[in-house]
Amino acid sequence: AKDTNDILAQDAHLIQSFADLNALKQQGARTVISRAKGAYVYDSEGNELIDGIGGLWCVNIGHGNEEMVSAISNQLQTLDFYSTFYNFTHPAAAALAEKIAQLAPGHLNAVYFGNSGSVANDSAIRMLHHYNIRKGKPNKKLVLSRHGAYHGSTHLAMAMTTPGYSEGWHAASELVHHLRSPHHWREGGEMTEVEFLDALIDDLKQSIERIGAENICAFIAEPIQGAGGVVTAPAGYHKRAWEICQANDIKYVADEVVTAFGRLGHFFASEDVFGMVPDIITTAKGLTSGYQPLSATIVSDDIHEVISGPDGMFLHGMTYSGHPAAAAAGLTNIDIMEREGIPERVQTTGKQFENNLRGLMDIELVGEVRGSHFMMGIEFVKDRATKASHPAEAQVGLKVARACQKRGLIARPLGNVLILSPTLIMDAPMIDQIESTLRDAITEVAAGL
Ligand code: PMP
Repeated sequence: AKDTNDILAQDAHLIQSFADLNALKQQGARTVISRAKGAYVYDSEGNELIDGIGGLWCVNIGHGNEEMVSAISNQLQTLDFYSTFYNFTHPAAAALAEKIAQLAPGHLNAVYFGNSGSVANDSAIRMLHHYNIRKGKPNKKLVLSRHGAYHGSTHLAMAMTTPGYSEGWHAASELVHHLRSPHHWREGGEMTEVEFLDALIDDLKQSIERIGAENICAFIAEPIQGAGGVVTAPAGYHKRAWEICQANDIKYVADEVVTAFGRLGHFFASEDVFGMVPDIITTAKGLTSGYQPLSATIVSDDIHEVISGPDGMFLHGMTYSGHPAAAAAGLTNIDIMEREGIPERVQTTGKQFENNLRGLMDIELVGEVRGSHFMMGIEFVKDRATKASHPAEAQVGLKVARACQKRGLIARPLGNVLILSPTLIMDAPMIDQIESTLRDAITEVAAGL
């Protein structure tokens, strides 16, 4: 039925809440996205919808960009496929690696291409294991991650993701230790943000002491946790964590699968927003704006030199690494972003988006509006004073997402949180429209609870 045909269920694995998923299954709800252009998508029934989630924090330059389509098509006509393995490369992959190295901060100059964010993160840890083997420290293998993290769906990437994400699944967990969630509003109790920051840093220090730095290869963190509900850490957190990692010979892996390529107003957020230069940055999604599947694990000169050194090749490859069509998409995507000044524009439009959404705090159902620029989350509560949530069965996030979709806006429900991560080509009228749609949808749902 039309009423129930209004929610995002294309990718069951992307729906975090099992309650949401079961409800969708029961209702047979499924939206068929048939075509897309610019900031809009069109469903199979001809409805025009603002793509408020950028196809899943992905389509940064907007849908249906003809220059992208031609670049991919031209590439396929020139060289359809050759894997970048052994001593082979091709012009598009080589040029893209060079371009990424130029945009990435400081000493991050070596790029390994994969085909998903999960693979990028998995590869990062494999590389660090290999790095430590080469350095004569084969036991330095454990990864520090955090509660609330999402790092992907391969075996290790899922183990690094927040415990419980995949219910009842704990494989590979011996390789990962989860630090406290950095979510002040939910986890900070009576602490001020500064006190909470100190508590988080203490947790990091004590964990290193307990486990032993000689057993820890990496600390992995999203600059802003995405699929965990858009959670920003207290100001200064990443820089302090990075300093502690440096002091303990632990490599800092920044998972910029969502935050890179303009979403926070910069090509990479680590240095420009958070003031630190990680040892590895992983990225995907916005790298091609979703036009082709491509990821990059961008590593420091130090790591690259050690793992590609003369004493034996680091065997790690995959067929579609650096696919020509994907590399061409990446190059053209970056070219468009640079020419049109998209990251710079986001510094203004993204801030406006953030401010407008923060204005929704005047609705009682809204407990917290969080995030930055075009990466925002709205958490709904039953009681603002106690921060008590509605029970899962109330499906508040899902109801608001439906009410939005009825009004022409796609938003992503995650339990009691609604996620907004639109394309980066939003202008002021569109931003206002999203805000007023959200306001109407939330108000309607609040009245019916
Ligand atoms: N890291 C982060 C921060 C992500 O948000 C995601 C996907 N949403 C991934 C990794 C995994 O990427 P992929 O789905 O392309 O494997």
